Amino acid sequence: MNRMWYAIVLSGGSGSRMGAGINKTLLTLAGRPVLLRSVEAFLPYVAGVVIAVREEDRPAIQDMMVSQGISAIYSPAGATRQQSVYHALKALPTDCTHVLIHDGARALVDGGTIARVMAGVESHHAAAAAVPAVDTIRQVDNAELAINTPDRGTLRQMQTPQGFDLPLILSAHEQALADGYAGTDDVSLLERLGLPVLLTEGSRRNLKLTTPEDMLMAEALLNQGTPTFRIGHGYDVHRLVPGRKLILCGVEIPHTLGLLGHSDADVAVHALMDAMLGAAALGDIGKHFPDTDPQYKGISSMLLLSRVEKLLCAEGWQVVNADVTIVAQKPKLLPYIPQMRQNLAGTLGVTPEQINVKATTTERLGFEGEELGISAQAVVMLRK
Ligand code: MG
Repeated sequence: MNRMWYAIVLSGGSGSRMGAGINKTLLTLAGRPVLLRSVEAFLPYVAGVVIAVREEDRPAIQDMMVSQGISAIYSPAGATRQQSVYHALKALPTDCTHVLIHDGARALVDGGTIARVMAGVESHHAAAAAVPAVDTIRQVDNAELAINTPDRGTLRQMQTPQGFDLPLILSAHEQALADGYAGTDDVSLLERLGLPVLLTEGSRRNLKLTTPEDMLMAEALLNQGTPTFRIGHGYDVHRLVPGRKLILCGVEIPHTLGLLGHSDADVAVHALMDAMLGAAALGDIGKHFPDTDPQYKGISSMLLLSRVEKLLCAEGWQVVNADVTIVAQKPKLLPYIPQMRQNLAGTLGVTPEQINVKATTTERLGFEGEELGISAQAVVMLRK
């Protein structure tokens, strides 16, 4: 049978226990949004991802995914987790045969955990990640008096992903809906029908980020070991000519002249990309995107920046900060700088606070001063 796997990632809750005032999956964890980390973990394993989102979070989440070149399907979050999952199941493409359901707040999920759940589904039709309980779990009565101590050896702490044959989980949800049953997770919906679910080995690292302490622990896990820092510098020049657009850091700026080049000639982004590639010792943009290649003719440099970011990401590098200087006599760039920072930060998956863009003139000296061209320099720090 031809299996077609999809993942459902729940970005759902209000994050009230996090006390951050925003959806916790939008928080940044070691330089990358929680939800982005969760979604990216599944991309090597599935044909597509459905993200269950609250209406008010949808624009931010969509921007986050688009900036990373991830095209997801979005489904509306419900009043409960169970409703969110049900809506997401209904939003799956018709070619889907198997589904992995994951809490967006489990951003540290690893490939091994995902692969073991998938193997469990292939042998048992339903499987979920779990770890042995380490604490003694005790049952209490209403007066908080101990009444029972289940044998710890038989207890497991549940995690996600939880994976299923699609028809199986869909019918379990429909049955629960018809019976008015509210379960704590998807496994519980099968369990009550007496259907077997294999629990596969999860990971202690696969934390559900619920409280500020969890964020600290997750950051520590992600940053364990001695980090490596690298610095890179980039420099670029493009000629100013009539009849071309002036695009700097992805912002189209009204001007009588524009920059000449094979791509959109975004000189600032070119300097930034060279700084990034330089820091990672991956050469320069000429090597990765040769201007003799017709596929790069007129291409948006922001698109190339996103490719450079992916290249670095694949090698384990993340941007700590970047500082870009644009040298131009005219026009005045100050009004465009907030948008420039936002564009760069969005594409790099960092916050605007990690990106600086500044503009300077040369007091009419040199080619920039004579308005023959614009130059840009960039310095970037990377962390592994
Ligand atoms: Mg260039």
